[in-house]
Amino acid sequence: MNILRNFSLKKYNTFGIDAKAARFVSVASIDDLRQLIGSSIYKSGKSLVLGCGSNILFRGDFNGLIISMDIKGMKMVEITDRHVILEVGAGEIWHDFVEACVKNKYYGLENLALIPGKVGAAPVQNIGAYGAEQDEFVYSVIGIDTASNEERELSKEECKFGYRESIFKNTLSGDFIITSVKYKLNKQETLNLSYKELEQEISKFVVVEPSAEALFNAVCRLRKRILCDPLNLGNAGSFFKNPEINEDTFESLKESFSDIPGYESGDRIKIPAAWLIEQTGWKGKRYGNAGVSARHALVLVNFGNATGQEIYDLSEQIIASVDDLFGIQLDREVNVVE
Ligand SMILES: Cc1cc2nc3c(=O)[nH]c(=O)nc-3n(C[C@H](O)[C@H](O)[C@H](O)COP(=O)(O)OP(=O)(O)OC[C@H]3O[C@@H](n4cnc5c(N)ncnc54)[C@H](O)[C@@H]3O)c2cc1C
Repeated sequence: MNILRNFSLKKYNTFGIDAKAARFVSVASIDDLRQLIGSSIYKSGKSLVLGCGSNILFRGDFNGLIISMDIKGMKMVEITDRHVILEVGAGEIWHDFVEACVKNKYYGLENLALIPGKVGAAPVQNIGAYGAEQDEFVYSVIGIDTASNEERELSKEECKFGYRESIFKNTLSGDFIITSVKYKLNKQETLNLSYKELEQEISKFVVVEPSAEALFNAVCRLRKRILCDPLNLGNAGSFFKNPEINEDTFESLKESFSDIPGYESGDRIKIPAAWLIEQTGWKGKRYGNAGVSARHALVLVNFGNATGQEIYDLSEQIIASVDDLFGIQLDREVNVVE
């Protein structure tokens, strides 16, 4: 294993922040990972596992060890008339995996096409888009428990998935490195067209019954059209989660803001964070070298030379503005790394 020092992370995070890592290593096998965890380099300081850096904000230089997850591979674990279980390496690119599934006629993940990042990060924040979340298809998550340096396989229930949540972000944060994920996919096409925009997009091109491939293509078209490409403007997708409030608070907010949108989420009401931010006037505003996208109030952008601290300060300002106006506390979806 080649440990690099004073390594620039500019190309390793989609914000394009030029933070430096004191040490950086690429890990391409479970044996290498276990050897690393057993080494004094790992034990002597802090470390962080990195996929594509598409859900991370480096606030400054990282005075520790960055472990770039590069364990590849995909194998079939089980196949029946109705299902297939695939085990996929944490270092595989998520979209390539989704595309391979559609090509091989293993269905379920189409709505999650083109989400940036690697497979190992997908269970961490339980990625979701267009009415679907990856946990619907997780069979188990495999990784190394860093305290014992032993492999563990967690069932879907043990992963405690929720809206952009999992055990890996909470109890097991920093203590478990995901090396592969098993997904249980359908052999029959069962399309999720619950998201209105997606149904409209697919109906533009499909005259007969839509197929999973048509759904996959529709998701790719929509995302390419709507989302802010980090190659053009550094960003990490949605910076904030949609807050959930109780019904009484929602009703009282409606008295002052009659058009406030809200969607039932269990016994709570989910409010689109983008709408809240728009009302505060932050959409399209610049803040030094950072800013809020003019197209998406939820997306914070780096205009080129922003520091992580600048983007962090901007996020603090937005949180304060939303709190002042609505009394609602926004939570960051992006992982802030100190
Ligand atoms: C333009 C854009 C659009 C996006 N759209 C969506 C969307 O529609 N839906 C959505 O849910 N997300 C979206 N995201 C966020 C991002 O794509 C996901 O969170 C993705 O899963 C992050 O993958 P990554 O490999 O880049 O993870 P990283 O950013 O590298 O890491 C994220 C976190 O996971 C941890 N981690 C990574 N790999 C491992 C591992 N193997 N073991 C343990 N911990 C690990 C890291 O330490 C970090 O805390 C978007 C981002 C961008 C830039």
